[in-house]
Amino acid sequence: MISADLSRLAEWMGGRLIGDGAALLSGSAVVDSRQVAPGDVFFALPGEKVDGHDYVPAALAAGAAAAVVRCCDDDWIASLTPGQGLIVVKDGLQALQDCARAYRSQLTIPVIAVTGSTGKTSTKDLLAAAIGARFDVMKSPGNFNNEIGLPLTLSGVQERHEALVVEMGMRGEGQITALCDIARPVVGVLTNIGPVHMELLGSIEAISRAKGELLRSLPAQGTAIVNGEDHRAVAESLRCRCPVVYVATSAEALAEGLRRGGVNAEATVQAIWATKVTSRGEQGSCVTGAIGSFIPGLAAGKRESAFDFVLPLPGRHQVANALLAMAAARAIGVATDTAAGGLAQARLSSLRWETRSLDGAMTLINDAYNANPAAMTAALTTAAELARSNRLVAVLGDMYELGAEAPEHHRQVGRRAAQLAAGLLVAVGELGAYIAEGALAAGMARERIHRFADAETAAAALPGLVKEKDLILIKASRGMRLERVAQALAEAL
Ligand code: ATP
Ligand code: MG
Repeated sequence: MISADLSRLAEWMGGRLIGDGAALLSGSAVVDSRQVAPGDVFFALPGEKVDGHDYVPAALAAGAAAAVVRCCDDDWIASLTPGQGLIVVKDGLQALQDCARAYRSQLTIPVIAVTGSTGKTSTKDLLAAAIGARFDVMKSPGNFNNEIGLPLTLSGVQERHEALVVEMGMRGEGQITALCDIARPVVGVLTNIGPVHMELLGSIEAISRAKGELLRSLPAQGTAIVNGEDHRAVAESLRCRCPVVYVATSAEALAEGLRRGGVNAEATVQAIWATKVTSRGEQGSCVTGAIGSFIPGLAAGKRESAFDFVLPLPGRHQVANALLAMAAARAIGVATDTAAGGLAQARLSSLRWETRSLDGAMTLINDAYNANPAAMTAALTTAAELARSNRLVAVLGDMYELGAEAPEHHRQVGRRAAQLAAGLLVAVGELGAYIAEGALAAGMARERIHRFADAETAAAALPGLVKEKDLILIKASRGMRLERVAQALAEAL
């Protein structure tokens, strides 16, 4: 944190300070005592399994400048060294959020928020790469996108930072508005809207409204960057106060998305769209595109400028994310060429599309980080493209939180696997059974479909099912922990 001392911190969160009010904070907010570095502020939050208050002594011993607590212990007070304090508050989480909100109001750097049903982290990382070519950028670490992760991210902004990119997730209506109230983004990126967290929100309309909260929270002088291929995202964008830039991987897809989203055929919108995407297989894609005004009825626009870049991540879905990143980077003043140079350096986080060669004979793609219908389809399409004439072995498991329509979404994935001519389908888990059902119904031969109840049995059987030159894709929701199948396969071969 920049220029805050303990008394100011206590004021921000309406807490009672015990200790040295003039002590300066040099670090950031932390909720895990094992991560405390000298100068950090430790927030003792009640967790599901442990209570942060049990770790106050450890945090103070590790050099925390302060511990924010709900109740105070004489031993803790006695252990305080000069430059340390305790701040007593009513509610630790509220205090963390209040602190982040107050801290944000001191920052003058642009804050860019990314939300959507799929691709938030990928887009956030691509955006940080695009902006990073010009500015010293801070981004949400990993998947820090909720009511705890977002304030923690904000508190990590240091004096040297020139821009902040945050990811915003949600598990209910009103949550993104609350995150925006803390982070106050000036640029908002909406990647797409799909049936993720359907069980919690009940309908796709509710999900759309919840994702649209980001766009509606932007100030009039802000910029909304919206996936123009996604008609629900387009429809949400019609209700925001600020200018919108629509983004798409082709002019046709953009025209269709805008039309279905309710944009008048004769209207002129601002857009960034790809004019040519060439796959370079595992090496990623070459993208050429245009920036300018776009008329949906003509499926064409007036190009004001052009760009091209090489994206080192495979899959057309990553091209869509990269274009959103380029548009957002431009919105805060990064030149197109500079952003393109940054995108060429982008890397993904772990368990996301980790490709390795097994025994020099097979290719294993471990994409077991997460799954939902859009992500599954994107992964299958990309894997089929990479497999070319080699056999694609699709090891696919349950996608969680899809509500009553879960069986149909799984069947659809199975149908897609059959259409893409996957050589072998290994369906794992309870819902995986519907993936197998969908593939069978779409004409995939029964002997090419294998079903397993869980990751353990699939892991035990898979080494006996694969052969030389196969390209093996492993994907399911995080809770399936399908990476165990990848590990078992790597060990067995
Ligand atoms: P979470 O809700 O876990 O935070 P997220 O929205 O941050 O997810 P990512 O972690 O970026 O999303 O990606 C999740 C999965 O979706 C990955 O398998 C990734 O390859 C895939 N994916 C990323 N972008 C897209 C996209 N634009 N369309 C479809 N799938 C995508
Ligand atoms: Mg994420």
